[in-house]
Amino acid sequence: LQRQGFFQLGVEVYGGALLAPWFDRDLSLAGRVTYRRDGKVESQLIDFEHPIAVIPNLAIHLNREANSGWAINPQNELPPILAQLADPEAADFRALITEQLARQHDFSADAVLDYELSFYDTQNAAVIGLNGDFIAGARLDNLLSCYAGLQALLAAPDEESCVLVCNDHEEVGSSSACGADGPMLEQVLRRVLPEGDAFVRTIQRSLLVSADNAHAVHPNYADRHDENHGPKLNAGPVIKINSNQRYATNSETAGFFRHLCLENEVPVQSFVTRSDMGCGSTIGPITASQLGVRTVDIGLPTFAMHSIRELAGSHDLAHLVKVLTAFYASAELP
Ligand SMILES: [Zn+2]
Repeated sequence: LQRQGFFQLGVEVYGGALLAPWFDRDLSLAGRVTYRRDGKVESQLIDFEHPIAVIPNLAIHLNREANSGWAINPQNELPPILAQLADPEAADFRALITEQLARQHDFSADAVLDYELSFYDTQNAAVIGLNGDFIAGARLDNLLSCYAGLQALLAAPDEESCVLVCNDHEEVGSSSACGADGPMLEQVLRRVLPEGDAFVRTIQRSLLVSADNAHAVHPNYADRHDENHGPKLNAGPVIKINSNQRYATNSETAGFFRHLCLENEVPVQSFVTRSDMGCGSTIGPITASQLGVRTVDIGLPTFAMHSIRELAGSHDLAHLVKVLTAFYASAELP
C-alpha cells in the first residue's frame, strides 16, 4: 500500500479490539511465515522486535470532533506507516519478510509463499502505580490465566492426572481446528484414554476451571456494574455467573471453587453482569457442551480489556496461582 509517498500495510482488526489506543504507539510485527527452500515447503516464526511501524493520530486542529466521539474506520484510518520512500518500487513486503527470515534464522528462502502476521506494541509490560499495585501489559486477556495455569501445572503433584489446555481463537468465536469449539481437546483425551468407557467415566469425574479475565469496577465508570457484583482489583479471582449459560458455572462448581479459595486463604469474589447489559462469554460453556464436563468460569479482574495495554492487579496473580495449584492437587472433587 502506498499513499503520499509512504509505505503502508493494509490491516484487518482481530477480534473485538479497542481501536483508539493503537494510535501513536511504537509497533512491531510478528507471526508465522511459510516459504519454499530447496524445493520444500517450511514454516518459521518471525518477530521484527524493534518498532517498524506507527499509526499517527490526526492533530486536534484537523479534527475538532476528536474528543467528542469519533468513529474509527479501520479500512481508512488504521493502515500503519512503515517508511517514507523516495522510490515507490522499494515497497516490497515479501522482500522485507525474506530479509527478516535470513536475519533471524540464518538461511535464505527461495520464495515467501504466505504469512500470518500481527502488529503489536513494543512497550514492555511493567508493574506500575505509586505502590506497585498494577500490572500493565499487552494481551493480559488472556495470557495472564495461561501463565497462572502453567505455573500451577508445573507445581502439580504426580498422583493426580492434570490437564492444562490453552486454546487459540477464543477472541474470534473458538471455531477453528485448534479453538475450543474444535476437536483438539477431545482428540487428545481420547488418545490418552482409548479403552472402553474410560473416557466418559473420566469426564464425569472431572471438573474444568475455565480461567479468563473479568471486568473490574472502574472508579470512573462504576455504574457499568451491578452494585453488588462488581469485582475489585487485587481482591482475588472472580467466579463468573450467568443463568443464560454465557458462563458455565453452576452452584455446585462455584461452591467447590469458593471452598477451595477459603481453604487456601485466597480471597474470592463473584461477578454477574448488569441485567440490562449484554454479557461476555468465554470458552467455559463451549468446552462444557463439547465434553460434558462440569465447569466453573473464573478469572482475574482487569481494566481496559482489549486495549493495546491492559491493566490487572499485581497481587491477584499470586492468588490465582495459589488456588489453581491447590485445584490440581485436590483429589476430592464434588
Ligand atoms: Zn477477551
